[in-house]
Amino acid sequence: MLKTTAAFDRIGEENAFAVLARATTLAAQGRDIVNLGIGQPDFPTPAHIVEAAVKALRDGHHGYTPATGILPLREAVAADLHRRFAVTVSPDEVMVVPGGKITMFMSILMFGEPGVDVLYPDPGFPIYRSMIEFTGARPVPVPIREENGFAFSADETLALIGPKARLLILNSPANPTGGVTPKSEVDKLVAGLERFLDLAVMSDEIYDQLLYDGETHVCLLAYPSIRDRLILLNGWSKTYAMTGWRLGYSVWPGKLYDYARKLAVNSYSCVNAATQWAGLAALTGPQDAVATMAAEFDRRRNVVVAGLNRLPGVSCATPKGAFYAFPNIKRTGWKAKALASSLLEEAGVATIGGPDFGILGEGYMRLSYANSTENIVKALDRMGSFLASRKAA
Ligand code: PMP
Repeated sequence: MLKTTAAFDRIGEENAFAVLARATTLAAQGRDIVNLGIGQPDFPTPAHIVEAAVKALRDGHHGYTPATGILPLREAVAADLHRRFAVTVSPDEVMVVPGGKITMFMSILMFGEPGVDVLYPDPGFPIYRSMIEFTGARPVPVPIREENGFAFSADETLALIGPKARLLILNSPANPTGGVTPKSEVDKLVAGLERFLDLAVMSDEIYDQLLYDGETHVCLLAYPSIRDRLILLNGWSKTYAMTGWRLGYSVWPGKLYDYARKLAVNSYSCVNAATQWAGLAALTGPQDAVATMAAEFDRRRNVVVAGLNRLPGVSCATPKGAFYAFPNIKRTGWKAKALASSLLEEAGVATIGGPDFGILGEGYMRLSYANSTENIVKALDRMGSFLASRKAA
């Protein structure tokens, strides 16, 4: 028997990848599957970004880069944050990392250990809880409620911060709910955090450019009172349709930057060089593709929300960000995971059951509308026929 560490009995994963694998298997068997499961833009990466990577390879960018990323890219990230949020960030606080996830991985590793609490949104991105449990820390779910527009509640969050709390994870615009926390609530939360000076904050802002109905993004870097304990997670995956490139960045305060650099040196050394040059072209080139994609997601959002609200027993709040709808299915009588699985196997529609995002996800499903309107309409038709003809399992 191989003796591995107990941490691996506790590590979780992201069920969206298992659903993707099952949907791919069914499609390979000839089934017509509409995939509203995985959350990734269905657009190709804009051509000028692809060209920049090809050029980088032709120009001989084949070797290691600094572990924290090439300087022009770190400078471009700092300039982009300044342009969008009027915040001053030094390129030396910016670290280029392989994707969005790695920042949560590193920050949870930095703060989590047995005997401490880490607060995270529930329903929320499943990797938060998985990594908290991996470190042996106690996961403390912060409820994200439909009646609150799937926003964080400052009061409820602050009330959950106990003496053992070391890290608070925030996410807006949010996966899986599409919820956006309004500025007034963020202001209140940050003001309350002044009472907890030992608490680090990790703000996952990967969907910051996918906002609708005139919402504007509130970047946590804009709050000086938490700047020295704030970790920002962001990246290129969603904004520039670059999920497969594996490119993200983080902003780290003080000594955490060096810890993150050391984790990189101890694991992946640096991000793929050509990808970094592509990321530079994304930030410094034309931004019209970002707006075009967001406008298209907005149109699909309206289609998916209206369609869901017509289904028997389903009601769907209008999400203000990201590209997910999180309909309430309680009145269908179905448990969410059973419904997700039956929809995939019997109706050919891939979705994710709410409980894959936390205990409070029961009674909800996540549908990614990063798919064509035609496919969304087809999926809604199939869901409608399924719910009308099948009794809850
Ligand atoms: N944070 C959130 C909230 C996400 O939804 C995702 C991707 N689904 C990530 C981080 C990870 O992004 P990446 O694919 O770049 O690792």
